[in-house]
Amino acid sequence: MLPTLVLVGRPNVGKSTLFNRLTRSRDALVADQPGLTRDRHYGRGRVGTKPYLVVDTGGLEPVAKDGILYEMARQSRQAVDEADVVLFIVDGRAGCTPQDTIIAEQLRKTGKPILLLVNKAEGMQRMRVIADFYELGLGEPIPISSAHGDNVNEVIEIALEDF
Ligand code: GDP
Ligand code: MG
Repeated sequence: MLPTLVLVGRPNVGKSTLFNRLTRSRDALVADQPGLTRDRHYGRGRVGTKPYLVVDTGGLEPVAKDGILYEMARQSRQAVDEADVVLFIVDGRAGCTPQDTIIAEQLRKTGKPILLLVNKAEGMQRMRVIADFYELGLGEPIPISSAHGDNVNEVIEIALEDF
């Protein structure tokens, strides 16, 4: 079994951009699992010699704002259940939003290891971009840029250090 990293976060924070970056250099998509998992995308990545599975929880995207708890429960929790490590993505340009807080609370209840990734951090001063997210209570926020690749490999190495 490959270690499984699950990307979670509200719409537009950059989950799919990160997924594409993590998977495109390798064996392309594993294939979206037919049937029950249509809203999740599975791919393979590798950092150094360590291969891993990555899951993009795209299913959060089309839901109405008031549906997010429901969606967390129904889809992302299923994905999160399969996770060895959850990569919780937030948007460093938007700052911390109420949806982020809701997702953080849901994730905390799972007891899974969580890395809090502050995306869109390229060209921004580190403390400035992460400061807003300490309040989520998930430890040290880690700035990344999915679009530019900044800090992405480092984050995956941290995520996989026990594997
Ligand atoms: P998702 O809804 O969480 O899957 O987010 P997407 O990956 O679709 O990205 C949403 C938007 O954010 C798109 O316009 C991306 O180009 C943009 N985006 C994603 N990653 C970055 C980043 O690292 N920096 C910046 N500036 N924009 C980004
Ligand atoms: Mg997406």
